[in-house]
Amino acid sequence: MSAIALYARATEGYDGRVAHAVAVLQSAAAEHVGRIVQATSLGAEDMVVTDLIARHHLDIAIGTLQTGKLHAETLALIPRIEQRYGFKVEVFEPVAASAVHFVRTNGEKAMYQSIDLRKACCAIRKLEPLARMLERRSAWITGLRREQSDSRAIVPFSERDDKGRIKINPLADWSWADVWHYIEQHDVPTNPLHDQFMPSIGCAPCTRAIAVGEDFRAGRWWWEDERAKECGLHVSDAKDAEVSMIGARA
Ligand code: SF4
Repeated sequence: MSAIALYARATEGYDGRVAHAVAVLQSAAAEHVGRIVQATSLGAEDMVVTDLIARHHLDIAIGTLQTGKLHAETLALIPRIEQRYGFKVEVFEPVAASAVHFVRTNGEKAMYQSIDLRKACCAIRKLEPLARMLERRSAWITGLRREQSDSRAIVPFSERDDKGRIKINPLADWSWADVWHYIEQHDVPTNPLHDQFMPSIGCAPCTRAIAVGEDFRAGRWWWEDERAKECGLHVSDAKDAEVSMIGARA
């Protein structure tokens, strides 16, 4: 059964949530001209955000992390985005020497050995390339939603990350049904792995399909304790957290 058939549903307040997400993106694009990027994981939420950016002709760059461990189906989305929307996706890869050294030292399956090694792998393949993506940028956009996990339950529409940049989460209040309703409405390209019970898709060694009744992110780093399940990309500066006026619905 396809992900659209499984998840897409029109629910009360959907049009308002779409309009609000567009307003958040428009405000961010106007405020951070030439200094804002969507950091897309190429997952369903991020494909919705990319479609909103393209549909509303917003001056927001699109960047992604090619960790070297992605599924072929995920990588195939990059040229699909470029063909569909007519813009270039900025691709950031890990420093080759660092990735090679890590594998030589710790092996291809190091991420399963300990949380420290898993986080070290994420640091080389995700955090360092993300830092390069965000250089000279004052704001970035994610597809984070409150519903995704307990640790994301208080995601605001706008916050400061641990480096003081503005991080914008336009889909913070969207449901999974909203995401797929939008995808169906606008024929947004998506990863075919979503049709194989993978709602949340990361690197191939660290993603598995979920079973009926399992949590949304149960297929990510499934061998770890729930509290460890973030890769470090989404660290907020809680002390200086700001909720923008436009995010007042949060
Ligand atoms: S998700 Fe897995 S393979 Fe990808 S960078 Fe993190 S530990 Fe490495």
